[in-house]
Amino acid sequence: MYDVAKIRADFPILAREVNGKPLVYLDNGASAQKPQVVIDAVTRGYAEEYANVHRGLHYLSNLATDKYEAVRGIVARFLGAASEDEIIFNSGTTEGINMVAYAWAAPRMQAGDEIVLSVMEHHANIVPWHFLRERQGVELKWVDTDATGALDAEKVIAAIGPKTKLIAITQLSNVLGTQVDVARICQVAHEKGVAVLVDGSQGAVHAPVNVAEMGCDFYAITGHKLYGPSGSGAIYVKRERMDEMQPFMGGGDMIRDVSKDVITYNDPPMKFEAGTPGIVQTIGFGAALEYLMELGMKNVAKHEADLAAYASERLTGLNWLGLQGTAPGKAAIFSFTMEGTAHAHDISTILDKKGVAVRAGHHCAQPLMQHLGVSATCRASFGLYNTREEVDVLVDALELAHSLLG
Ligand code: PLP
Repeated sequence: MYDVAKIRADFPILAREVNGKPLVYLDNGASAQKPQVVIDAVTRGYAEEYANVHRGLHYLSNLATDKYEAVRGIVARFLGAASEDEIIFNSGTTEGINMVAYAWAAPRMQAGDEIVLSVMEHHANIVPWHFLRERQGVELKWVDTDATGALDAEKVIAAIGPKTKLIAITQLSNVLGTQVDVARICQVAHEKGVAVLVDGSQGAVHAPVNVAEMGCDFYAITGHKLYGPSGSGAIYVKRERMDEMQPFMGGGDMIRDVSKDVITYNDPPMKFEAGTPGIVQTIGFGAALEYLMELGMKNVAKHEADLAAYASERLTGLNWLGLQGTAPGKAAIFSFTMEGTAHAHDISTILDKKGVAVRAGHHCAQPLMQHLGVSATCRASFGLYNTREEVDVLVDALELAHSLLG
């Protein structure tokens, strides 16, 4: 049974107060809180087991290397990858997508080639492709959401043309909570010889993932949203795509031999991991993924679906609230404005006084904000430890904000 009270006790920060009120943490879409097992893994990593990895022959270096390298298998298991050699460590999704842009896309795309994107991408899955547009004349093709915030996979597929080389798409919108049928997109894209990069930053947090079944070429995740340390992350790269990639960051660890005239590279995935990595962050990331697998991502998804249904019901009852995104099956991420002149920042400040942490702004998704015709929204994003009672606290705090600002 999913015992949310017991789970909450695993997260020490949830016991604290903010502004004299119990913390109601609804900013999980930005970054999630950490369970004690992750905090312990990080503390132990520095206090007892720290040394640089891969280089030394001494005890601590071997221990740190073993702990660090074991995480590759944990990530592969979490994502359903066929082999841990398909996992490249990094500092998070932003680095993962930039790596694909520099190491895979840039060397193989010419002026006029196309990348298909959805309008609800995070800037991390937009800006690296703009670089290719600016530098190489690559064209970006955008697919819009409908009035409910749903993104029709068939519209993405219809955007594929003879010059399309890549579809770069989120599995789950960080603003609207919309889920995308990425498996369907991968299936058709591959029939047409087009690669698919899936931004799994939000998708992997809320439901089980299996990249082999999904059929994507690249799948990026970020540790801090998965209840792990910031500065940790990974990207799954299908083996044949990894073979097509050129290393883009040079330094220690990614080489086999260096002389004045030639270099030879390490085997993948290390060929794409230059320099001293986030050793302890990655070890903490492994602890977070093991924690999630123990809870069971199916159970997390079920709990969050209940929260999403309850929050939808309560929030749609507030007829002065402008809810953005009501697509069927949406995740427990709610963006909203308030009728009148209330600014998202003012709303979030009032909520904060009630101990409710939400995010206000453009959520690094400015093309989506333009599409929605708003400059900013407030966003309440739920996680595995949130409760129906916290939905009620949010609604009470919103009613207060409306009475003060409306
Ligand atoms: N993609 C999505 C959908 C996100 O929500 C985020 C973070 O908000 C990112 C990418 C970027 O993740 P990071 O900042 O951890 O690299």
